[in-house]
Amino acid sequence: MKILFRYLSIMFLALLFSCSKQSEGPGKINEDIIAKLKTAGFDTSEGVMKYKDGYLVEYDIFLTEKQINELAEAKTTKKPVTEHYSTNNLVSGTNRVIKVFMDAGFDSYLQTSFDAALARYNNEHLGLSFQRNATSAGADISIFSFYENSNVLGYSAGFPTGGNPASPIRLNTYYYNASSHRADAITVIAHEIGHAIGFRHTDYMNRAFSCGIGGNEGLAGVGANPVLGTPTGPSPDSWMLACSSNTDRPFTFYDKIALITTYPGTYPGDPAPIGKTISLRAAINGKYVCAENGGASPLIANRTAVGPWEKFVVINAGNGLIALQAVANNSYTCAENAGASPVIANRSAIGLWEKFRWIKNADGTVSLQAFVNNSYVCAENGGNDPLIANRPWIGDWERFYWQEH
Ligand SMILES: [Zn+2]
Repeated sequence: MKILFRYLSIMFLALLFSCSKQSEGPGKINEDIIAKLKTAGFDTSEGVMKYKDGYLVEYDIFLTEKQINELAEAKTTKKPVTEHYSTNNLVSGTNRVIKVFMDAGFDSYLQTSFDAALARYNNEHLGLSFQRNATSAGADISIFSFYENSNVLGYSAGFPTGGNPASPIRLNTYYYNASSHRADAITVIAHEIGHAIGFRHTDYMNRAFSCGIGGNEGLAGVGANPVLGTPTGPSPDSWMLACSSNTDRPFTFYDKIALITTYPGTYPGDPAPIGKTISLRAAINGKYVCAENGGASPLIANRTAVGPWEKFVVINAGNGLIALQAVANNSYTCAENAGASPVIANRSAIGLWEKFRWIKNADGTVSLQAFVNNSYVCAENGGNDPLIANRPWIGDWERFYWQEH
């Protein structure tokens, strides 16, 4: 089963509706095809047209007749998943490495954008990691080119099948060529990879949100499963919005939650100073992290010197994870309430909430990622409030210098 999702540029939508394709609209399409599309869960009230050797559905989903038949048949047996909506079809396996090839014909700007798109995913430490492959042979996803003077920026071959990512992705060299250097290159590549691993448009329920026009894309035979903890309505600035505004859209807060929830990582973190007694100093304010009140109150980064309350022993918590044992009270540091409440050193044993990943940052700082919620420990409010493990990314408040004592 392959579904081609077209990624439309909002700038060129007018073309879509004024071009000759529109005149080959729903009126000329066989009723049998319409019925099968409806069975597959597509909205056929608008945006259905004959396109090349198949049909364009909901304006940007390209299907051949064979695919429509398969979708209609599969409708009763398959279940769904997406970004903030996933399809029922996801990539299987844990800690799986997805090899991605990009055609050497793309220029250095696009090759760099491609690497950046892969890095964007890898920085999330998901259950999937992405690696550039030198050849199309052996790659899980290949990115090829096509040329068409149309509103289509690129498309992916739908959603995963058989637990494997969809391939290939095609980018339109009408837009992505040696002289274009479009601002949305990284986002468009990441977007098509997003489809290939099972994410739907964030605004699938109302593509007018990003496209300015259009309606609900429907279940499309693959489902639209809201990802826990993300908005069910259109998500501003998401990388999976249906249409591009030709701007770069790095993963948003909710994008990251959708990714990590759908593909939870078991990334063990970087090698940590196991067995050493350390102090942590918040990069944002230069203050040491303290097990306040001898551990009775949450950790806070507001001390200018290191005493017993500012010392922690790095404990091996297994599988590459660590725990931090406060010297103040010999208790383990806990992402209280599964990360919903401030971090506090008051536990006598290491459970889920007491495990962290030690993440080394390029600037020499480290970050602590709570295992329970995959969120980073933050010196909240620039260090003025207690530490809390609830950030999906590493920013200035999530970096700490460490030293051994
Ligand atoms: Zn798309």
